[in-house]
Amino acid sequence: MSYSHLDRPVQFLKGVGPKRADSFARIGVVTARGLLYHIPRRYDDASTVRPIGSLEVGEEVTALGRVRSKGVIPTRRGLRIFQAVLEDESGMITAAWPGQPWLDRKIRQGDTILVTGPVKFFHGRQIQPREMTIIARGDDVDERQGLIYVTYPASEDLPQWVLRGVFERNLDALLSWANDDEYLSEEALRRFRLPSLAEALTWIHRPDAIGQADLGRRRLAFDELFFLQLVQAQARRRATEMEPGIEHVRTNELVRPLHEALPFSLTSAQATSLREIYADMQSTRRMSRLLQGDVGSGKTAVALFAMLLAAEGGYQAALMAPTEILAEQHAATLRALVEPLGVGVTLLTGGLTAPDRRAALEAIESGSARLIVGTHALIQDKVTFPSLGLAVVDEQHRFGVRQRMALLDRPGLRPDLLVMSATPIPRSLAMALYGDLDLSVLDELPPGRMPVKTVLRAPTQRDEIYDFVAQEVAKGRQAYIVYPLVAESEKIDLLAASDEFERLRAEVFPELRVGLVHGQLSSAEKDAAMRGFLAGDVDVLVATTVIEVGIDVANATVMVIEHAERFGLSQLHQLRGRVGRGADESHCVLISEPSDGADERLKVLRDTSDGFEVARADLRIRGQGDLFGSLQHGRDPVLRFADLMRDEDLLALAQREARGVIAADPDLEAPEHERIRVQLHGRYRDRLEMYAVG
Ligand code: ADP
Ligand code: MG
Repeated sequence: MSYSHLDRPVQFLKGVGPKRADSFARIGVVTARGLLYHIPRRYDDASTVRPIGSLEVGEEVTALGRVRSKGVIPTRRGLRIFQAVLEDESGMITAAWPGQPWLDRKIRQGDTILVTGPVKFFHGRQIQPREMTIIARGDDVDERQGLIYVTYPASEDLPQWVLRGVFERNLDALLSWANDDEYLSEEALRRFRLPSLAEALTWIHRPDAIGQADLGRRRLAFDELFFLQLVQAQARRRATEMEPGIEHVRTNELVRPLHEALPFSLTSAQATSLREIYADMQSTRRMSRLLQGDVGSGKTAVALFAMLLAAEGGYQAALMAPTEILAEQHAATLRALVEPLGVGVTLLTGGLTAPDRRAALEAIESGSARLIVGTHALIQDKVTFPSLGLAVVDEQHRFGVRQRMALLDRPGLRPDLLVMSATPIPRSLAMALYGDLDLSVLDELPPGRMPVKTVLRAPTQRDEIYDFVAQEVAKGRQAYIVYPLVAESEKIDLLAASDEFERLRAEVFPELRVGLVHGQLSSAEKDAAMRGFLAGDVDVLVATTVIEVGIDVANATVMVIEHAERFGLSQLHQLRGRVGRGADESHCVLISEPSDGADERLKVLRDTSDGFEVARADLRIRGQGDLFGSLQHGRDPVLRFADLMRDEDLLALAQREARGVIAADPDLEAPEHERIRVQLHGRYRDRLEMYAVG
């Protein structure tokens, strides 16, 4: 591997040393490269920074000044105010931070600070900053201030002025080394309309205009997406192409009778997905496919046909579900459909009695069990499948890439893989997350499905909501009431499930059977609570989000969600998917303070029942971080610079390029790919390790 100055420990840079190196390590900066890629979080256009002399009361301003004097002033009401007098060539102004006396320890006389906030009148003009950055300390004035002020992500022991000083002294050298990392040819840069790395990083750290910084960021975003796609393309090649998979043979012995026995006909989305799956299974290429579809779109039926295709050709097919109840429900659904065809279904979960478990294992390991449904129990080492031809993973976001691989990674056979997800994610996200999978989408619901009626209500309307719940229960239906927390927290004034459970049972619904389930119960207790609800022994189930997946009760028609503003839209949509599973009209009641500003978000749910639309709105509103939990690698996000909404075009570009490179040169052995190989192994492999399994 070629050595670059960028690999040097940050400690050896000017003005760093061992102590600051420790502080840098705590913010994730270990090498010179790490510092170069520690990019500003904020840019202020200096042309909008106003001369202090010109500031007027009532304005909202950004100003830059030197601290002439400062101190903490007590007021009669006991509030302590930190004040500093700021000065530039045009004049002076007082800056005041009520209730923040600790700033006195942070800001020193002589510091140059950038402040943003309103100008008010208190014994003269006074700015009350909402934001403050120490730009320089003492005489260490930043000479290079161009037209744009940059603000770096700082920390307690690496304040802004220290970071800026370190950059000031090292940035020229860092930028001169940046081209060591360049892996794109001039030709490629032109083709992608991207700047070179050195150019991009210059624009990022010292932009002449704010737009320039974003053009630079796009280059770093491309790099991340390219290497992510590269790793996925390699994994995909290993998974699907290098060694052939099973060539399933369709005899129609089981598939046709199932078609005839099914009480409904498939939606056209189901039929299309099934054709794609059959084609993969019948080819020598190993299938690696994601079946995505909203709650209730009929993924299980599709999976069942795929499993029968494997079984009729003489192979075993296994379906792995995230909870025991769900596994049992799947097994029961399958049994009802295939037992008339003379085929059995074997269930393997951790909750089986010892003799049942032994019997299941024996059936699986002898090969006599063809259709197998289970939980994590299926991937425990002891289980061997002599002829596994198809592995299906339900609710795959509940399993890691490793677990899904564990189901496949059996000596001998190379089973096909179908993963199912009810978390509808926009295509760009699916491409980034599952670049190693092919995608089938169920984008329609079976006919006659009534959308869940969704309403927004204020906490003051709770009594009416409880009346409504009682009415539905009187009709023989069941209801969920979901809370964001298990137990009451002292800091936040939030309703919590276990406290509310007591109140609901004793005061609100004394006549009804009220149950409680949350994540802090043992799995046996959780299981018992959900079973009680499933069996109809409980009318109202008080719950946290543990019910998001893992329970399917057709008789439940009401979903009440307290503090709806605390949940992500996609999560609310999943919760809503717990009702509307039967023939009766179902209701979802979202309770939140109307003043919370969450209304706009919640209206998305009220106005659409389309999970994809909800997911797009969620991504737009909350950003990718939350949705993208599985892209976290430890503490480091896999995507630091790329924004999947804004950079969708780059993602497509990066994927095409990465797949092209891997198709032509799978192991990156060609001389023209050497720089890519070096970057991949040096900088990205660790971060992308989880995608490299295949
Ligand atoms: P998902 O797993 O996608 O949430 P399921 O496979 O559990 O959805 O299907 C939800 C319900 O819809 C089940 O009761 C199933 O029997 C039914 N169903 C599936 N496909 C169809 C169809 N084409 N027409 C009518 N009902 C269907
Ligand atoms: Mg399902």
